Amino acid sequence: MKANIKDFDPKELETFIFELGEKPYRAKQIGAWIFAKSVDDFSLMTDLSLSFRDKLRESAEIRSTLNLLSEQKSVDGTKKYLFELYDGNKIESVLIPDKNRNTLCISSQVGCAMGCTFCLTARVGKIRNLSCAEIVDQYLEVNKINNGSVTNIVYMGMGEPLDNLENTVRSLNIFTNSEYIGLSPRRITVSTSGLVHKIKELSERVSVNLSVSLNAPSDAIRNEIMPVNKRFPVSTLLKECKRFPILRRKFLTFEYVIIKDLNDSTANANELAGLLKGVKCKINLIPFNEAAPITYKTPPVERVLEFQKILVSYGLNVKIRRSRGSDILGACGQLAATYPLDDKKN
Ligand code: SAH
Ligand code: SF4
Repeated sequence: MKANIKDFDPKELETFIFELGEKPYRAKQIGAWIFAKSVDDFSLMTDLSLSFRDKLRESAEIRSTLNLLSEQKSVDGTKKYLFELYDGNKIESVLIPDKNRNTLCISSQVGCAMGCTFCLTARVGKIRNLSCAEIVDQYLEVNKINNGSVTNIVYMGMGEPLDNLENTVRSLNIFTNSEYIGLSPRRITVSTSGLVHKIKELSERVSVNLSVSLNAPSDAIRNEIMPVNKRFPVSTLLKECKRFPILRRKFLTFEYVIIKDLNDSTANANELAGLLKGVKCKINLIPFNEAAPITYKTPPVERVLEFQKILVSYGLNVKIRRSRGSDILGACGQLAATYPLDDKKN
């Protein structure tokens, strides 16, 4: 198969163009045609010589990697897109409209290897990493369908983005390049379950907001629900988080999926507050989204409010994340893209 131009980030495209015997700055023109002007045919790139266009056609393609299988709309306006990939695998992306933003939640892998006990994607297991083009195409397709209205991107769909760091970084370079898509890094958030050794690398290679799925106030609880914690315990994770360079006027985010009788007690809230004391961060409390075959339960609303109140009393910035799109299994942790689920776990 010929190379797909969308698999190169801006620097790599310059190298590719140089190797074809052309000036590297031509890469910017090609990138602008594809990403800013949505042109997917080299012959229409009129500011390139005819012979160069021929050469490009011989050595590369501008391939669309996604085939839209379905679009489901939630009563709350959230839309879930199911895409088929070239090899028959499937992924989902979710568009979440809000007052003044339209946030696209994209997948980074088919399934996920991390095995979190509360997450449906974990039940799929990791099938494979997404290519850079497959990550970027989720934005291009959904943005097109929605008349260019996507304003923010979060890497919170299927998969662990830091377990696919190369293509995550490539896609971030495409999203933020001013000649390409030109999204501000401030509008993009990468979420991780805590692959500590990759957090530093991410921060060294790109500027982006970081969200960490903490989900527990102690190693005892986190070990039980997130196997990654056995490799990188809470103290190691927090030490690395504190080093992460935060964008101006932005915060590190900690996600905390709050699960009935597991991590929702007053003691848990106090413990969490102690852990995050002095860390410049926001906490997103996500009431657990129930989804069979997982048997955990959502705590009653009063419990979630009480948990929030305790954290706030310590001066922490805490939001309760409204569940969006849960009626179409489009909420956090509900993405399984029609894969059969392993119901032997948990
Ligand atoms: N793998 C990355 C990004 C995708 S998961 C990560 O874990 O951060 C996105 C978020 O959904 C995470 O914060 C995760 O903790 C949360 N989540 C997973 N399952 C959930 C569920 N059943 N209910 C609510 N949130 C869930
Ligand atoms: Fe993977 Fe994130 Fe789900 Fe954990 S919560 S299994 S890391 S997608």
